[in-house]
Amino acid sequence: MNAPEQDWKAELRAAYKDWSNLPSPSPQEAAALAKKMPIKITPRYWQVIQGTPLATTLLPQPAELHVQPGESQDPMAEQACSPLPGLIHKYPNRVLLLLTNQCAVHCRYCTRGRAVGQPGASPDPDQVRGYLVAHPEVNEVILSGGDPFVLGDRQLSSWVALLQSLPQILVKRISTKVPLVLPSRIQTGLCGILSASGPWFVNLHVLHPLELTPEVEQALTRLRQAGCILGSQTPLLQGVNDDATSLIQLNLRLLSLGVRPYALYQCDPVPGSGHFRTPLSQGLQLLAALRCELGGMALPQLIADPPSGKVNLHPHNQTPSPGGGWKLKNWQGQEVEYLE
Ligand SMILES: *Cc1c(COP(=O)(O)O)cnc(C)c1O
Ligand code: SF4
Repeated sequence: MNAPEQDWKAELRAAYKDWSNLPSPSPQEAAALAKKMPIKITPRYWQVIQGTPLATTLLPQPAELHVQPGESQDPMAEQACSPLPGLIHKYPNRVLLLLTNQCAVHCRYCTRGRAVGQPGASPDPDQVRGYLVAHPEVNEVILSGGDPFVLGDRQLSSWVALLQSLPQILVKRISTKVPLVLPSRIQTGLCGILSASGPWFVNLHVLHPLELTPEVEQALTRLRQAGCILGSQTPLLQGVNDDATSLIQLNLRLLSLGVRPYALYQCDPVPGSGHFRTPLSQGLQLLAALRCELGGMALPQLIADPPSGKVNLHPHNQTPSPGGGWKLKNWQGQEVEYLE
């Protein structure tokens, strides 16, 4: 049934890290592109995405070398909110722990592209504990990176034990792409750790219904059986998933698999990501289209993340009405009167 631990590690070691298994650009381009962020693609995921628009999310493209005004290595101004290496405290009640810089794949649009794949220290557990104890207003920890699920079971369980020992931590969340790109990682050992320490909110970085293969579905089932509450985080990417049909299918499929759609993100302005970014107006139009076709359970929030912090985007849904109440736009865009 479940593959032994060595198998996912072997699969990870077999990830493509140069052009030898991939359609190659010119040698000069190849050198410039690989310098920006190393290539990393699991063979299994490449099987799924090659020849599809998803391939552009992992294959370096010449457009990456065009840095546009307003793009930054640290688009969310995280470094200013990092009191310790690997800990980001930007919102009062919750912190992000960047447990590792390693991932199973390297997404070309990654918000933390400056660090991904680089050797780099993970946070110091004693420092993290000290910081959390000194900040009792923090009640939620989000394990992120990099991808926390590329850590081995032993490392992961020591972080879990640290959080378990702090009664102030009421909500535990993990952000990961591993179940989509390395589903063999979701095996008994990991599920045991999660089920013994839950509930865990596991938010999946998922782009497109094509990613939801039978192996991925099985991995999601194992996570749910381990008591995880699954959610989704979807970067909106030009030419990849910026059409209503893909997004409707994606969110409906996710909901049917027990994954609650959580957020659709405007692509962050990391250097060389302009070819992935959609205009805000398009995001709002897509959200309106989703609102017509999907029930509330399948509807993600549309989020932009400028340096000052996240903004929840809405089509303008309400205006004061002369009678003292409100004119509200319903799901079909029709104006209705709402009395205060
Ligand atoms: C996005 C983010 C969070 C989580 O925000 P939610 O709105 O709860 O999803 C927490 N900390 C940082 C630094 C973030 O960027
Ligand atoms: S999996 Fe997440 S952290 Fe890793 S490269 Fe992709 S977007 Fe970045």
